[in-house]
Amino acid sequence: MDCQTSSEYAENSKEESKKKGEKDVENGAPVIGEHFLVRRSDGTWNAAEIIQTRASEVNEGKEEYYVHYEGFNRRLDEWVEIDRFDLSNKLEDPHSKIKDMSIMMTDLSDGTDRKITRNQKRKHDEINHVQKTYEEMDPTTAALEKEHEAITKIKYIDKIQIGRYEIDAWYFSPYPEEYGKQSKLWICEYCLKYMRLEKSYRYHQSQCTSRHPPGKEIYRKGTISVFETDGKDAKIYCQNLCLLAKLFLDHKTLYFDVEPFMFYILTEVDRQGCHLVGYFSKEKESPDGNNVACIMTLPPYQRKGYGKFLIDFSYELSKQEGTVGSPEKPLSDLGKLSYRSYWSWVLLEELRDFRGDTRSIRELSEKTSITQHDIISTLQSLNMIKYWKGQHVICVTPKLVEEHLKSAQFKRPVLTVDPMYLRWEPPRKMLKLMKK
Ligand SMILES: [Zn+2]
Repeated sequence: MDCQTSSEYAENSKEESKKKGEKDVENGAPVIGEHFLVRRSDGTWNAAEIIQTRASEVNEGKEEYYVHYEGFNRRLDEWVEIDRFDLSNKLEDPHSKIKDMSIMMTDLSDGTDRKITRNQKRKHDEINHVQKTYEEMDPTTAALEKEHEAITKIKYIDKIQIGRYEIDAWYFSPYPEEYGKQSKLWICEYCLKYMRLEKSYRYHQSQCTSRHPPGKEIYRKGTISVFETDGKDAKIYCQNLCLLAKLFLDHKTLYFDVEPFMFYILTEVDRQGCHLVGYFSKEKESPDGNNVACIMTLPPYQRKGYGKFLIDFSYELSKQEGTVGSPEKPLSDLGKLSYRSYWSWVLLEELRDFRGDTRSIRELSEKTSITQHDIISTLQSLNMIKYWKGQHVICVTPKLVEEHLKSAQFKRPVLTVDPMYLRWEPPRKMLKLMKK
C-alpha cells in the first residue's frame, strides 16, 4: 500500500463520515465516532465506538454499525444493528484528549516527514508492531500507524466458507477491492481460490482437481500430513494462504512477497483429500535466526493441539538443520500463550532428570533448538533460574519439575511430531552434498 493512497483513503473516509454524520444527525441516528453502550453477543453491555456504517444486506432499508468495544481486543469488533444500542444516553469519548494530540502529530508530519520512501515504509511495517500510544511514537511512525489503523480497523469480510466450515473472520485482510468488501467469501479448501458467489464456488468445486497443497509431502502419520511448499514455485497458492491467514491475525504484513519463504502446511487426511488445518512460513535465509515467520491454525481446529504440533514441527526442522531458532516477533496473543506453554513443557521434560549437575543453558539450547534467550525467559517465568555472579544459573528440584508438569498448562501436548515419519533434508545439507 502506497503512503499517498492510504492517506487519501483516510481523508476520503473522513469526508464520507462527515457527510454521513450531517445526514444522520437530522434523523437522530448514531453517527461515526460516537460512543454508546452496546449489547455484546453474550448479552453484556459495554461502551463502544461507532467506526463505520453500511446498509444492511439482510434487512433492507436498515443500517448496520461497525463497533469497537472499549477495552476489548479488536478481534471482537463487529457489525451490529440499532436494536443492540442503548440510545438513551450518549457516552463521552474516553480518548478525546489522546486523539487531539495524535492529530496534531500527524499534521506535523504532513508538513515535514511526508515523503517516506517505500523502503522506510517497509522497514516500519516490519519492525513497528509495538503497542505504543501515538504520543510515544515519533511523528512519522504515528502517522503511518494511524494510516494502518484507518485501513485495517474495519473487517468487511464477516465470514468465509472453506470446505465444510463457515468461519467468522477476526480481522481485516487485504483481499482485492471487490472481494475485500464482501461480507462472505467462498474459498476452495484445496487450491485456496476465493470467490464472491456461492454459485461460482459450486462450479469451481466441480472443476477443481487439486486435493492437497502444492509441493512435497514431507510428513505423514495417521491422518496428519504436512506439505512443504516453496513460495517461489506456488506463488498464487501461498499468496492466497497469506490472505486467508490475515483474517485471523491482527498484525501481519506479508501477503504478496512470498518467494523468500517456505510454507509448511498441516492437513488432516480423509478419503476426500487433505483438509487445511494450519501452517507456518519460514524464511529461506533468516538473518535474525527465525525458524517461523508466521503461524496460524484455522479457528475450527484451534484448542485441539494443532498449534503446538506446528511449533514442535518448526523445532524439529531446526534440529535437523543443527541450528537454534525463534519465532518472528511480534507474536499474536494466542501465539504467545502457545509458545510459552510449549517451551515450558520441553524444558520441564529436559529438566526432569536434572540432579544438580552442571547442565548449562547452552547445552539445553543445543538439544532443543530453542534459543538461549527463550530458555532464560521461560525458566524465569517458571521461577527456575537465578542470576548469580554475572551468569544465569538453573535452580531446580525434581519436586518442582514434577509439580509444574502436573499442572494442566504444561502437560504433554496432545500431538507431537514423530521424527521417524519426517522425510526431510535441510536445504543447505543438500547443497553441500551436491557440491561433493
Ligand atoms: Zn480449487
